Amino acid sequence: MKLRFLGGTGTVTGSRYLLSDDKRRLLVDCGMYQGVKTLRRRNWAKFPVDPSTIDAVVLTHAHIDHSGYLPALVKNGFKGKIYCTKATHELCKVLLPDAGFLQEEDAKYAFRKKFSKHEKPEPLFTEKDAWEALKHFESLHYHEAFQPVKGFEASFTPAGHILGSSCVHVTHRESSRTVVFSGDVGRQHDLIMRPPEPLQKADVLVCESTYGDREHRDSDPEKELEDIVTRTAGRGGIVLMPAFAVGRAQMLLYVVHKLMGEGRIPKLPVFLNSPMAIKATEIFCKHHKEHKLNTRQCELIDDKTEFVRTVDQSIELDGVRYPCIIISASGMASGGRVLHHLKTLLPNPRNSVVFAGFQAPGTRGDALVNGADTVKIHGEYWPVKAEIHNLDSLSAHGDYREILAWLEQGSLKPEKVYVTHGEVVASDTMRKRIHEAFGWQAEVPELYEEVDI
Ligand SMILES: [Zn+2]
Repeated sequence: MKLRFLGGTGTVTGSRYLLSDDKRRLLVDCGMYQGVKTLRRRNWAKFPVDPSTIDAVVLTHAHIDHSGYLPALVKNGFKGKIYCTKATHELCKVLLPDAGFLQEEDAKYAFRKKFSKHEKPEPLFTEKDAWEALKHFESLHYHEAFQPVKGFEASFTPAGHILGSSCVHVTHRESSRTVVFSGDVGRQHDLIMRPPEPLQKADVLVCESTYGDREHRDSDPEKELEDIVTRTAGRGGIVLMPAFAVGRAQMLLYVVHKLMGEGRIPKLPVFLNSPMAIKATEIFCKHHKEHKLNTRQCELIDDKTEFVRTVDQSIELDGVRYPCIIISASGMASGGRVLHHLKTLLPNPRNSVVFAGFQAPGTRGDALVNGADTVKIHGEYWPVKAEIHNLDSLSAHGDYREILAWLEQGSLKPEKVYVTHGEVVASDTMRKRIHEAFGWQAEVPELYEEVDI
C-alpha cells in the first residue's frame, strides 16, 4: 500500500492524503487551503491526481480545511462515495453549500471590482456543486466497520475535536497493514467535547501537529473571560468573539451562559450572528449524546441566545452601542459577518475582541493577536484601539502535551509516524517530541511525497 501526501504539509489547511495499491485509490480528507494567498492559490491548481481515478473518499471531520474541496473534486470527475460519521454528514450539509455560496460571491465581487485577471472570474465551485457532492455522502456510526473500496476496510473513532470528528482507521486487506489518520485531535479536558478515544493499533500513524511546538497556557479560561467581559461591560463596551461556526461558537455560548448563570459576569444580551453557526448549534444540540452537554444545557443556550439570521438583523446589530456579547464567524476573521463588527468595534478602546483558537499565519486574526495597530478590511485600513485577547486555552486542538498523553493512553506501537497538519516548525518539533517520548520513527513528509507503507 502507498501513501501520498497531497496536502496538509507545512500548513494546517488543505488536508488530503491518498492511499493506494495497484488497483484502487482512496482519498482521506479533501480539504481546501486557507490563510496566506500562496496557499489559497493552490485551491485553483489542477488536482494532483485525476479525480475520476479516485474510488472513494473518507472524511475525518466537517471543517472546510478537511472537506471543502469535495465539491470541486466531484465537479472534476470524482464518481465514488464519500464516507463520514453521521454528525459530519449533517455539518457538511451546512458547511459545503455555504462555501459554494461564498465562492460565487467572491467571483461576483472580483468581477465588479475588476481585480481578477480573468475576463469573467469563475467560482472554484458553486452552491449547486456542493449539493451535487452531498449526493455522494454515506454516513456511519463510530466503530462501525465498512469497506470504502474493495480491499480496504475502515472505521471511525471519536477524536474529540468537534461534533462528529474522528480518527480514520484503514486496513489494507492484502498486506494486513493498518494506517490511522488522527484528523484534528481534541483536548483532554475540553469544556464541551469528550476527550479523543485512545488508539489501540496502527502500523502507520498520520498525526496532526497544529500545536506541535506550543503549550496552551495553564490559565483558567473561564476566569479570563469573566475578567474581560466584566471589565468591558463596566466601561460600556461590547465583547466581540470571532469564532469558528462549528465547534468553538457552541463552546463560547456554553461558557458565557454558564458564567452568567453563576453570577460571575453581568447579565448581558448574547447574540450569535452567523446563520451557519446557528444551524451548527442546532445540530450540536441534536447530537447531545456525542458531547458533554445534556439536553437541558443545550436548551438553555437556545433560550438565552439571540440568533441573528438575516442580513438586515446583522446590520441592525452592528448599530448596537450598549454592552453585549457578539459571537460571529469566521474564527480567524478571514471573512463573514464578523468583519462588519470588527470595522465598527475595533476603533473604540471601550470594546474587546476575544479570539478562541488557532490563528493561521496571514489571517487578520493572526495580525490582531500579534498586536497590529491597523487592520485591512474590505479594502480599507481600520485602527485597532479595542482590547485584543487570544484565549488559545479554549482551542479545539490539543497541544503537544495533550497529544503525547493521548498517544500514550492506547497500546499503540507504530513502525512509523508521519507528522502533518502543522506549520513547518510545529510539525518538526512534534516529530522530535514523538521520537523522544516513545522511540517511534517519525517523519515530516513533503508535499506530494509518496511512501510505501
Ligand atoms: Zn478541524
